[in-house]
Amino acid sequence: MRLLEERIKQDGIVKPGDVLKVDSFINHQIDTLLLNEIGKEFKRLFDGSKIDKIMTIEASGIAIAAITAQHFGVPVVFAKKAQSINIEGEVYTTKIQSFTHQRVYDVIVSKKYLHEGEHILIIDDFLANGCAMQGLISLVREAGAVVEGIGIVIEKGQMSGGKELRNEGLRIESLAIIESMNAETGEIVFREQAQ
Ligand code: 5GP
Repeated sequence: MRLLEERIKQDGIVKPGDVLKVDSFINHQIDTLLLNEIGKEFKRLFDGSKIDKIMTIEASGIAIAAITAQHFGVPVVFAKKAQSINIEGEVYTTKIQSFTHQRVYDVIVSKKYLHEGEHILIIDDFLANGCAMQGLISLVREAGAVVEGIGIVIEKGQMSGGKELRNEGLRIESLAIIESMNAETGEIVFREQAQ
């Protein structure tokens, strides 16, 4: 998605350790008009797919999923990072290793909001090693629901997450795929994709 790639080039900041900061338009301050274009693009890409609900994980995924969901006319459910699991039996749970915080979270979603047979589109801001996505997929499958597709705003193509998920046969649409980035020069190279 050209608009997104241009914005990342303009305002994204490359940090050491293969981290891209997009705090000025996605992760801290939010450009809602850009997110609206992102939502429209996910709708275009997944048009024709059966999608009953959009799922994401707190916190950064919520705004993206909510704006996207307006284009699909479906609800959003977000997985919560739990400090401790004290509502056992009422929730689906998994563990996710955080890329940015280098710790493991228990992640939960209430059984009330994820049901057997539902077709789910999972949305997130970044795909790196794929831990967050594997966790969300396992919650969906624990519920007996179906992962209809995965929508990612920024995929770090130099990491293995996207490749592994595609090898599993999952449909992943990433709006911008980073081929390489350089923390010293700030240069970001994107993978060519059909627009
Ligand atoms: P993964 O689990 O695929 O390794 O990492 C995905 C999660 O880590 C995303 O939910 C995102 O919040 C965070 N993340 C991974 N890489 C980056 C990055 O370069 N920049 C930012 N801002 N977040 C990242």
